[in-house]
Amino acid sequence: HPDLRPDYTFENFVIGENNTLAANACMAISKNPGTAYNPCLIYGGVGLGKTHLIQSIGNYAWAHNPDIKIAYVTAETFTNEFIEAIHHNKNHQFKNKYRKVDILLIDDIHFLQEKTGTQEELFHTFNALYETNKQLVFTCDRPVSELKQLTDRLRSRFERGLNVDLQAPAFETRFAILKQKVEEKKVPIDDEVIELICRNVTTNVRDLEAALTRLIAYADLLHKKVTLDIARQQLKDVFSNPKMSNITVEMIQRVTAEYFNLSPNDLRGKKRTKAIAFPRQIAMYITREITEFSTTEVGLEFGGRDHTTVMHACQRVESRMQTDPSLEPIIQRIVRQIKEYGT
Ligand code: ADP
Ligand code: MG
Repeated sequence: HPDLRPDYTFENFVIGENNTLAANACMAISKNPGTAYNPCLIYGGVGLGKTHLIQSIGNYAWAHNPDIKIAYVTAETFTNEFIEAIHHNKNHQFKNKYRKVDILLIDDIHFLQEKTGTQEELFHTFNALYETNKQLVFTCDRPVSELKQLTDRLRSRFERGLNVDLQAPAFETRFAILKQKVEEKKVPIDDEVIELICRNVTTNVRDLEAALTRLIAYADLLHKKVTLDIARQQLKDVFSNPKMSNITVEMIQRVTAEYFNLSPNDLRGKKRTKAIAFPRQIAMYITREITEFSTTEVGLEFGGRDHTTVMHACQRVESRMQTDPSLEPIIQRIVRQIKEYGT
């Protein structure tokens, strides 16, 4: 399909805890466009797979029914085409193009903010398609409620159907994604190198891929296998951050668990007995103190807990330190050990 990248398919999309809901919704839509989940809006930060997913809908639907009419467009292109159309008196062609499709996929609708003319046009496009049970899917970089410069009536259209978010993937999902790319490209990169990347690049999939691409280029150009040392060297600047970039949550869990005679799995697990819960909170607190991981990321690394749990843990440890003078030296000792471990 001319609008779609052929490699943005469901087969190439790794499902993890961060994207299951969105991916399932998109698969359901691609099988039965216009029936369930209409409209659908996928939102989330940069590089988390919005474009990949929305295009997968198109690719799947088109592969199963080549007669189906699909339009994929970014909100930016939609805006530019609309302006061009007005300019050249081709309003009619523009309307025909977008109001006569079975599936309309519009990427990055946050771009429409302040574009009141285009918003108006999209509002009417939306209504025309919606009333005839045509499928509409949108993506956005944040929840629609946070788009301030959007007319209320268009916002209410976006919010009408299913709104699902994409989160940053946890370590296991990051690993699965890179592993898939490595196998697909048949490059000589070992699991331990993949693991190194995934421990250090926690932001989004695009950054993960960029790190891998750099190593692949290295292997290609020098005909050399990428060892752990080479990977560390090549990705030094990617990993560097103002806090401790070589420290992983897993290391913190290992050292903290050891100090309290627990296993790292206890800290990641579900048990909430006092003997485990407090060391777990300490490990979360330390992670926040000495790394750049966000509360969301820390929560994910601790058995998929919510970011509010992490915030609560940090508050709890801080208030305990106020009342219990023996706690701070303990934490300092653990931190020292982690740093030794990390060098
Ligand atoms: P967004 O549109 O949210 O900024 P993209 O869809 O462009 O993000 O994704 C960035 C890159 O990461 C793309 O190359 C995409 O194929 C890849 N990607 C994202 N999520 C996944 C996933 N779950 N499995 C495989 N590849 C993914
Ligand atoms: Mg995108």
